[in-house]
Amino acid sequence: MTEQSDMETGAPISPQITRMRHELHRRNLKVASSERLTPHMIRLTLEGSELEGFVSAAPDDHFKLFVPDGEEGDARRDYTPRLYKDGRLTVDVVDHPGGPAADWARLAATGDSVMIGGPRGSVVIGGDIRHWVLIGDETALPAIGRRIEELPAESSVMSIVAVPGPEDEQRFETAARHDPVWLHRPLSEATEARPYIEALEKIDLPPQTFVWVAAEAAVAREIRSYLLDRGHDLQWIKASGYWIKGQADASDKSIGE
Ligand SMILES: Cc1cc2nc3c(=O)[nH]c(=O)nc-3n(C[C@H](O)[C@H](O)[C@H](O)COP(=O)(O)OP(=O)(O)OC[C@H]3O[C@@H](n4cnc5c(N)ncnc54)[C@H](O)[C@@H]3O)c2cc1C
Repeated sequence: MTEQSDMETGAPISPQITRMRHELHRRNLKVASSERLTPHMIRLTLEGSELEGFVSAAPDDHFKLFVPDGEEGDARRDYTPRLYKDGRLTVDVVDHPGGPAADWARLAATGDSVMIGGPRGSVVIGGDIRHWVLIGDETALPAIGRRIEELPAESSVMSIVAVPGPEDEQRFETAARHDPVWLHRPLSEATEARPYIEALEKIDLPPQTFVWVAAEAAVAREIRSYLLDRGHDLQWIKASGYWIKGQADASDKSIGE
């Protein structure tokens, strides 16, 4: 594995990773609006006075969404705060078959009650990052979209995102230089790493490129291994399994850490 170093001094360069803790709150909220953003993505906006003090310091933060488990209890699932603005929280939920959170989101209507918990903490990635490569499936799209939108004007970012078809692609308003690559495959092939690796084989990964990956856990693991085999420095990669094929309520949030 190659260590990245300053071209003038030869000193190793690492990205700055800052871990923050937030006070854990449960919040009772209402659905303010629900829309079908794309064929496989439901956008919900949540509101309520209990959102006061809500903090999300990093685009890949997550909170718990409490939804009915079908047996008079709650199922808790992880979702990304896609946008928190003007006292409203936006969450984008992938419409996949057979999960209580996706089932709940599909039917959520204005005025419905919902509880969230967290975010419990944030991992802020900073430092001298010259280029970002953001890789993921549709569950990663909220975090990827938010990061692209939050990057400042001088930054450069490439996204490699797999979605079922062209109508599932999203546009992001950003001051950064953004180069999007969209891969198309049905949801039933969301556990295939090959399309991402083929896309990665076509691009350069210059020094000080931070590669962020989130997808089905086996896919994220395979992409991470490919990057390491290619010599990309471990410190410049963050890979997470946002869901696990065939398992409910499952993730692997920090692969290799
Ligand atoms: C940090 C983090 C942030 C996340 N942010 C988001 C987000 O913003 N939006 C979002 O939609 N998801 C997000 N996810 C993923 C989400 O938590 C999972 O997809 C979750 O399993 C969905 O819950 P469920 O109740 O619908 O399905 P579950 O009950 O958990 O799973 C039921 C079945 O569906 C399968 N499954 C789960 N997710 C998918 C999927 N996406 N495609 C196909 N099959 C699936 C499971 O393998 C299982 O067999 C995030 C995950 C993490 C760890």
